[in-house]
Amino acid sequence: MAPIPGSGLAKGLAVTLRTMTKKSVTAQYPDTQPDLPPRTRGVIGLFEENCTVCMLCARECPDWCIYIDSHKETVPAAAPGGRERSRNVLDRFAIDFSLCMYCGICIEVCPFDALFWSPEFEYAETDIRDLTHERDKLREWMWTVPAPPALDPGAEEPKELATARKTADKLAAQQAPPATEPHADQQARAAEQPTRPQGDSKQQTDQPKPGQPTPGQATPDHPKPGQEGPE
Ligand code: SF4
Ligand code: SF4
Repeated sequence: MAPIPGSGLAKGLAVTLRTMTKKSVTAQYPDTQPDLPPRTRGVIGLFEENCTVCMLCARECPDWCIYIDSHKETVPAAAPGGRERSRNVLDRFAIDFSLCMYCGICIEVCPFDALFWSPEFEYAETDIRDLTHERDKLREWMWTVPAPPALDPGAEEPKELATARKTADKLAAQQAPPATEPHADQQARAAEQPTRPQGDSKQQTDQPKPGQPTPGQATPDHPKPGQEGPE
């Protein structure tokens, strides 16, 4: 069947009209910043204090784009007669983002939580050599790393948090002032106060015991008013 003349034009106009009334989904970057998901892989931040220069990240990186230099330092013994120890000191930590393929292996393998993803992505350069970020720049990215998401309800507490809480409790217990002894005057006053037998309430102690006279009952030692006592 031959198409009706002008039907194509009508269809096209209908599509245009439908699209004109819909909300636009195009964000006018850079005037409008994109709303990125929290696990966006933008750039890698280095938390230097956690790095022990174990070299795992550099060894596992498939692109060999992590450069680490370090030297050894001798730490004196903690106690007299103890053994000296040596530790690695970081001299250089750099990532070449012109080679990085954002696989995240370095972050996954770091056993000391020293590397983190930041959603920051605006670090384009006109010179490719500037895409090698040295440790100072990697540290700056740490300020853009979002806080970790909350744990699922009922999830096991992370080991790091449990250890930190135990250490804080221990320190608080050490810094708490010792329980003070009662003052000598208070002790003397406490000794002067009459004590009541334990377990006997006032009601119980006021009750006459078997064989004891009730209040107001005459006894040989305590005659009733008007009665004469023993001569
Ligand atoms: S994200 Fe992957 S490629 Fe990039 S530095 Fe880490 S391990 Fe290497
Ligand atoms: S794996 Fe972690 S601790 Fe080891 S060198 Fe890399 S960043 Fe440092």
